[in-house]
Amino acid sequence: MYRQKDPQVPLSAAEMKRALRKHVNPYQMYTLDRLTDGKDHWMWFVGKEGATRKEFVLMQARPMTGDEKTLTRLVNGKPQGDPVFAFVLDGRWVARCPDCITGQEVVSRDQPAFVCLNVLCLNIVNGHFPRPVKFPPAGQMKKVEETLLARPNPVNRGWDAQGLATGKAETVADLKAENIKHSLPPAVAVELEN
Ligand SMILES: [Zn+2]
Repeated sequence: MYRQKDPQVPLSAAEMKRALRKHVNPYQMYTLDRLTDGKDHWMWFVGKEGATRKEFVLMQARPMTGDEKTLTRLVNGKPQGDPVFAFVLDGRWVARCPDCITGQEVVSRDQPAFVCLNVLCLNIVNGHFPRPVKFPPAGQMKKVEETLLARPNPVNRGWDAQGLATGKAETVADLKAENIKHSLPPAVAVELEN
């Protein structure tokens, strides 16, 4: 999934800055060598190394609800109900809320629970419990990452795993074909943490 039509290689510093400012989170400026996920997101917003999903949700949701029971469920509830599915947007692993239009959160395979932080939602349809997050198998995840990391601009690192944008799920072969179309290598070798 490509967002921008501008030339990809080489990306000037100004182009990169513009792209980053518009679409991605500041931490992604320092993590261009990989796709980022919930752990990067939570650490940045909580302001603490190793910050967890629970800490992030607690910080974000507390101003939205004065109800301690709701807060406890959002933070500590066991994931249940229909799962959400991880895909890649703007260089991050994210999932979209099935209950509201706008809810989208950065997710991590290590802590696969989803709480929609849209103030009007907060997983209310799911009784305020987190939903499980489904990631692709590790082998497929690695192939997706190797393919998307060939794109220097994180804004163009997108994998529409469920066909949310076009109605047709993208395959790794589709992503490679996109790379070639943009004069990029089909994939790059990367060391993955996960
Ligand atoms: Zn929602």
